[in-house]
Amino acid sequence: MTLPGPTAEQWAAAVAAVRSAGADDEVQLICHVNPDGDALGSMLGFALGLRRLGHTRLRATFPGDFAVPGPYQQLPGSDLLVPEKDAFVSPRLVLIFDVAGVSRLGGLAGLLTTAPAAVVLDHHASNTGFGGIQLVDPSAAATSVVAEGLLSRLGVPLDAEIAECLYVALATDTGSFKFDMTTVSVHELAARLIATGIRPGEISRRIFDSKPFGAMKLTGEVLGRAVLDPGAAGGRGMVWTWATLDDLERHGQPPYILDTLIDPVRSVAEADVSVVVKEVAPGEWSVSLRSKGAVDVSAVAVSQGGGGHRLAAGFTGYGEAAHVVDTVRRLLDRYLI
Ligand code: 5GP
Ligand code: MN
Repeated sequence: MTLPGPTAEQWAAAVAAVRSAGADDEVQLICHVNPDGDALGSMLGFALGLRRLGHTRLRATFPGDFAVPGPYQQLPGSDLLVPEKDAFVSPRLVLIFDVAGVSRLGGLAGLLTTAPAAVVLDHHASNTGFGGIQLVDPSAAATSVVAEGLLSRLGVPLDAEIAECLYVALATDTGSFKFDMTTVSVHELAARLIATGIRPGEISRRIFDSKPFGAMKLTGEVLGRAVLDPGAAGGRGMVWTWATLDDLERHGQPPYILDTLIDPVRSVAEADVSVVVKEVAPGEWSVSLRSKGAVDVSAVAVSQGGGGHRLAAGFTGYGEAAHVVDTVRRLLDRYLI
């Protein structure tokens, strides 16, 4: 199924919006809270493109804790990252990356209405249509695909630094070129990125295959308590586990270490649906949902105030972890595909 992407008018409006900002105007780039590889990679790759166009006043940020996951700390363009509190107060142009809804912008959402120009670059099917000019392509494997589309329309050639950012974004959101979204055009883009001289093996090792020993022990413990529920999702099965703040503390690990925990969980053959419930504050849980095709987990997440893609989504749940999972289990039957 090919969902409609941005129209020619939207692309033209986005190009005009970017060009409306002079080289010395303040440009604020923003990605979603708890940023992942696509959020940071598409934002920083685009910021570097603006730098190549001569822009001198660029800042990149995201709401909430100013914690950049270790693997992304050396991304090119990281020097442009500032904490939320240091974002420009009244930028000429605001660019938003990988954000499905305003709630993911936290306290930065106000800039959308005060800035003379705002462009939203995203690929979530659940995008709520917020913001000024929307470049939302639910068929895009990553927001970096949209970012590259706008960079090329602005006449910015790819170089190795921009390419590294966009490649990290693309590799993250395609699960290292494994997911269904891994189309011919994804590989064509990857080829153009690699042609700049970046080293995919070295990048992948740094991004995916490099974790502290404590993270491995934590993962082992959390996976060890996983529960298989074969009757859930109309008999297609659900596997779930949970991790608490105490688990993180005992193993001396930061919260982002749990971001990829869903990957081993979703590899369980007996379950279509996988769920990881991560405590982010006492009684508050970040819930990751994945399906192999039986359930529209985006609809489940949206019904709980979250969002995402049809087969990969998330929301924030409250109360006991088991209660949050019970709610998910009930909703799975409602949103069977
Ligand atoms: P993850 O499970 O990797 O955190 O997120 C999976 C997908 O769901 C991502 O595309 C992410 O942007 C989206 N997502 C996760 N949590 C939330 C949430 O609380 N709100 C919204 N709108 N989307 C979310
Ligand atoms: Mn993304």
